[in-house]
Parts: sequence; structure tokens; C-alpha cells
Amino acid sequence: MIIQDITRLIVLLNIYRMECDCMNKKMLISWFSIYLSITLVMICGITVLDRADDDRQFAKNAVAEEDTVDNKKIEEDTSNLLIEEQSTEYVEKETVAAESETINVDDVVVHMGEGKADRTNIGARIFTDVDPDKPMVALTFDDGPDTESTNFILDALDKYDARATFFVVGYKVPDTETTIKRAYDLGCEIGSHTYDHVNLTSLNKIQRNAQINNTKKMITAITGQKRVLLRPPYGAVNDAILKEVNTPIILWSIDTEDWITRDPENTVKNVMENVKDGSIILMHDSYTETSEATEELIKRLTDEGYQLVTVSELGYHKFGGLAKGVKYGAMYGDDE
Ligand code: ZN
Repeated sequence: MIIQDITRLIVLLNIYRMECDCMNKKMLISWFSIYLSITLVMICGITVLDRADDDRQFAKNAVAEEDTVDNKKIEEDTSNLLIEEQSTEYVEKETVAAESETINVDDVVVHMGEGKADRTNIGARIFTDVDPDKPMVALTFDDGPDTESTNFILDALDKYDARATFFVVGYKVPDTETTIKRAYDLGCEIGSHTYDHVNLTSLNKIQRNAQINNTKKMITAITGQKRVLLRPPYGAVNDAILKEVNTPIILWSIDTEDWITRDPENTVKNVMENVKDGSIILMHDSYTETSEATEELIKRLTDEGYQLVTVSELGYHKFGGLAKGVKYGAMYGDDE
């Protein structure tokens, strides 16, 4: 409507200009007419952009819906796979015992009864080189991977035969597949930190599913890892999310604040002053300063007798497994 009105006004002004005798008036009308024309062009441009934006949003929603359906199928496929694995459990365990230090997948579901979610290790990698009677902690890294700093951390983990958990952001995954694969091959666990690092509580169900499942799908495709733990950005979850997620939710018990201080010494100090058996330590592998802190931290923790394990391993040794839709801030071995 506005576009038509302005066009009409420009035409009328030009007719009046042609009939007008006064030069000053003619000049004034010309300038005003130019001004109106520019405004008209701008309005047209904004309208076109808005429409394009709407189209993109529509396409995005359509993809999200499609993915949810897709993910349901994958979920079903995966559960079939896991059931198949259960039947070969004993064979696998025997092989593992012979080789020692190799992977031992424990498929036992611990039924918790009344109001408590069942615990399981299905899809988790459990290594046999951990002494369950000695203290252990889980180093966790969010917001990566970053080709340079994450690999620096992996070098340190490799040097000390330690493992950690990386909660990766989905949109960074396509460019860092080699780094993710290397982490997994070193025994590390790969978790999801959503696709876009969004606050899940601000999204609707379809958007939430897309954020969680797309990232999970990519991690499984690269590593073959079946259970993908979720760490929600900002630790933000609500009851609806807890009910609908198909995985345990991992928070932390020690926040190193590495992303605020950007000081390796401070990061190490924060951990060493607060660490205890069962701690889950929060760091961010997207910062060089954190990668610098990691080697010293691993050395100090190892010297103090801590075993560095993945979150799933900590859950296995402290709780006998983890339950889906349950938040874990630490794993001291108490009841959930
Ligand atoms: Zn984050």
C-alpha cells in the first residue's frame, strides 16, 4: 500500500512540476521527488529481503521437521543394534579379558524402581585399565573442537595415557572430523553441546530435537559411538527437556572459569583446590590458555593419584551406569 501511495505522489508531483512556471518551485519539487524515489527503492529492497528471510525460515523449519522424523528412525535402528550387541556380550567380554586394557561394553541395565530412572551403560565405552577403588575424575571440555588447541590437549592426554570428554558444538564438527576421530581413538568420549550452542529452554520441541539429534547423528557417524551424552549450553534445562531427552544430562561440579580468567595458572589452581573423587571438571577447549593449562593439570592430578576417565566411565564406576533424563553435576558415588 505504501509503495503504491508513494508512486502515485511522485507521478502527481511531476505533473504539477511540468505545469508550474516558477523555477524555484520546480527545483524544490524535483528534489522532493528524488527523495521520494530513493525512499521507494529502499522500501522495495526491505520487502524483498523480508520475503527471502521468511522463505529461509520456512525451509529451515521444514528441514527440522524432516530431521525429527529421520532421527526417530535412527533411534529405532540404534536400539535394534544395541539389542543385537547384548546377545554377544559374553563373547566380547572373554575376548577383552584375554587382551586386557581393551574395551569392555557392559550392557546391564540397573532397574532403580520407584520414581527413579533406570541406569545403563548401553552404548558406553568402558575400559578395563581403571582401578575402581582408587579416586577418579572426569575432565570435560566444551565449545570445541578447535583444530589447534584441541589437538594440543589431545597431545597431553596421549602423553599421560589419560582420557577426557569433549562436548562438541555441532556446527564445528564438519571442519574438525579428524580431531574428533583422534580424540575417540585415544579413548576419549564425545558428547553433544547442541548444534548452535543455544539455550535449549528458549526453543520449542522441534527446534530442541534438531539441536540435539543432528549433533548426535554427526558424532555417531564419525566415531561409531552409540551413546552421546548431552551437556546443555549454560547448563540450562527444564522439566520438559529432562522428560524428552534420550540420554543422561551432564553438568559439572568444578567450574574452572577458564573462559573468564584466560589464565592457565588460575585454571589449574581452581581445580586442585576443589577436586575430589568423582569430580566433573568444566573447561573449554576453544581457548589456547586452557590447552596450556591441561598438561600441567593432568600431571598434578595424576601425581595426586587421580585416574582421568570419561564421564561414562565415571558413571559406570560410581553409580553402576547413568540414567537418561537425569542431571549429573558430580559423581561422588552417592545416590542420584
Ligand atoms: Zn558452552
